Amino acid sequence: MSFFKKSDDKQHLATIEELRQRIDSANMPPHILKIANKELDMLAKTNPAAAEYTIGLTYIDYLVSLPWNKKTVDNLDLERADRIMNERHYGLREVKERILEHLAVKIMVMNRKPRILVVDDEEIARNNLLHILEKEDYSVVTASNGIEAIDMLEKSVFDVVLTDLKMEKVDGIGVLEKTKNKYPDTQVIMITAYAAVDTAIAAIKKGAFHYIAKPFRLEEVRTTVKQALDKKMSTVSAKGSILCFAGPPGTGKTSLGKSIAEALGRKFARISLGGMKDEAEIRGHRRTYAGAMPGRIIEEIRRAEFSNPVMMLDEVDKIGQDFKGDPASALLEVLDPEQNQSFIDHYMDVPFDLSNVMFIVTANIADNIQEPLRDRMEIIDFSGYTEDEKSKIALLHIVPKQIREQGLSDYPPEFTEGAIAKIINEYTREAGTRNLERQISTVCRKIATGFVHHKDQVKNITVSPELVERYLGPRKYYLEVTDEKNRVGVVTGLVWTEAGGDIIFVEAAKMKGNRELILTGSLGNVMRESAQAALSYIRSNAAFFRIPEDVFESHDIHIHVPAGAIPKDGPSAGSTIAIALISLLIGRPARRDVAISGELTLSGRILPVGGIKEKLLAARRAGVKTVILPSKNKVDIENLSEEVKAGLEIELTDRIEEIVDKVLVK
Ligand code: ADP
Repeated sequence: MSFFKKSDDKQHLATIEELRQRIDSANMPPHILKIANKELDMLAKTNPAAAEYTIGLTYIDYLVSLPWNKKTVDNLDLERADRIMNERHYGLREVKERILEHLAVKIMVMNRKPRILVVDDEEIARNNLLHILEKEDYSVVTASNGIEAIDMLEKSVFDVVLTDLKMEKVDGIGVLEKTKNKYPDTQVIMITAYAAVDTAIAAIKKGAFHYIAKPFRLEEVRTTVKQALDKKMSTVSAKGSILCFAGPPGTGKTSLGKSIAEALGRKFARISLGGMKDEAEIRGHRRTYAGAMPGRIIEEIRRAEFSNPVMMLDEVDKIGQDFKGDPASALLEVLDPEQNQSFIDHYMDVPFDLSNVMFIVTANIADNIQEPLRDRMEIIDFSGYTEDEKSKIALLHIVPKQIREQGLSDYPPEFTEGAIAKIINEYTREAGTRNLERQISTVCRKIATGFVHHKDQVKNITVSPELVERYLGPRKYYLEVTDEKNRVGVVTGLVWTEAGGDIIFVEAAKMKGNRELILTGSLGNVMRESAQAALSYIRSNAAFFRIPEDVFESHDIHIHVPAGAIPKDGPSAGSTIAIALISLLIGRPARRDVAISGELTLSGRILPVGGIKEKLLAARRAGVKTVILPSKNKVDIENLSEEVKAGLEIELTDRIEEIVDKVLVK
């Protein structure tokens, strides 16, 4: 039916009646049901020609279309999850292990029968509570006095403790203190006679969850215990409960998220936060004008048709800079298990429970995520692949997928390892596999086109390196490092960008002038400052490096980092810049196949840097032979697998003077 037709009374009544039925069958929580009915009553009195009518109609229509209480049933079979991840994704061993651990904890928390301790010296009260709570399917243990209770608390953990306030020797406050001391997350409910409500309130100030007055009402006991349990569970699951996949593009973050959803039997939804400019995109617009809409979170839930999808929030590290409203608080509310049980979208204006959603966020660089958000996350690094891993991923996953997608399943071409290696080294330069997939797709498409144009062409094609060149044209990337010669004032460095690690060439030049430092190449503030610091260090130690003093008096110095369109920042180029300057000022060429990364202090010390794995992978891609890194990064390097380090000579140092002879040719 159309909601927008201006109609006669009969039609109006029919519309209202139909909505009433949809409200009844939407399985809404009672407080939402009340609001929906109220809105509908208002609508019934509104003239269908009025603008408010359409607004009201669309709103109710939206309310009833949400999956208020519809959940998919989780498949909690860890072996199956492991199998699905292994079938879809090559390598990523550590990542998969961490995900399985995370799922295992969730499963434990969700599946366990809640444990409750009832402490009361009155037998009838004790048995009553035992009876009520066992009916709720909790596992209940009782104690008949404070001392017994404390003994039990020594031996095992409880989710909720119900304790009488007035008892001999050790009273309820004693039990409360013992519990909170030992298990801060366990919730304690005080049981008290009406007369002693004051003491119960004093107990709440000491950390009790709530109190129940005697004689108890069944319903009150049930709901209070349930609320206490919810609170306990949410604080437990809140701790590092959101997975954050951090790494460059094309390293499998999204596809792994999809696999998790599939393993759990949940729907998958994805929202990119990267381009968002306005908080309303997350939380919706107020329903004051006809074009108002709910935010993306609620919209994705509606589209998923279930209230417990796996929801991936992409690029959390990009949110913030030019964002209208308060992004951190909007997202915190979405991600915080204590607040997201009653998430309020501005358009909906009623709370929706997001606590069943499994959120996974992604970021290119986890360090860039705002602090309060990052604190809630368990960060899992996807740092990029070695050539060998890429080759396996291509042969096992990407090629079969492209063959399917380009309709070549009947005559699948066979890609040789040489062909794949050629594509990786000469047609892509990346941490992940996005371009690799694109190039393989191009080859497959050209093969498919060939079949269409030349019906009698041989069908079983072997894709060799030569064929790759025929299809993809001349090579796009060269090994900038080994293919060029050493020069004065040009030094190879390693940086960590959103796209993973990368190599840079820092160039330094001098010309007649008056002591100016010129910096070009889209350098960020931090990098500009490290350049200034490097120059100051060298000027103050000119004699040590045998640099003629007067050179600074009569010259301008220019530092440039090519590939100017790519913004570069961070302190880790400090030592590279310093070596470029020394090379320039003493006229010794720098070895191109030696790459440096390290922050430089004004006193010439080298401080540790981030993104070591990314940088080493980048060094290998570029053909670097030796990498010079800060001594303080030793542990990071030791933790890396041999595959990442293979073929590289890694030297550690903490003084800039020690680097000079390793890089500059005599
Ligand atoms: P991201 O979300 O990190 O940008 P994607 O998940 O979109 O990366 O992955 C890009 C492509 O690379 C996908 O086609 C994916 O299947 C493939 N891919 C990446 N890593 C792996 C891997 N370890 N095993 C199999 N395929 C992979």
